[in-house]
Amino acid sequence: MHSSIQDLVRDFHRAFGLDVAPRPATAALQLSLHRQDLLAEEVAELAEASAVGDLDHIAQELADVVYIAYGTALVHGIDLDAVIAEVHRANMSKLGPDGRPTLRADGKVLKGPSYRAPDVSAVLRHQGWTPGPGESSS
Ligand SMILES: [Mg+2]
Repeated sequence: MHSSIQDLVRDFHRAFGLDVAPRPATAALQLSLHRQDLLAEEVAELAEASAVGDLDHIAQELADVVYIAYGTALVHGIDLDAVIAEVHRANMSKLGPDGRPTLRADGKVLKGPSYRAPDVSAVLRHQGWTPGPGESSS
């Protein structure tokens, strides 16, 4: 049976007694900073691996970055798969009316007339998020 990355990382957090918030909420500052340190560490390791160019090492560090990112979503109670699906929807809406990409001269993908930005606030509200004072709820 196939498990999503999110399910695997949730299993890890439960097995090791790490935080898994039941619904979206801003985590305690100390926990947020700790998660940011973990992610920065893995991004730095990825940069080192990329500089050396060993593909197995690059793959390992990419996996570590994604694993930590999913774990960080869990401590914030975010269903990251749903957020990624919304970002993907927005990215695909950059295609032109002819179904083809519009590229700038340097290769950057430009937004076509059908582009609709990701509405991450709506996704989080659907997951039970109630924005606090000063938090985005666009
Ligand atoms: Mg690593």
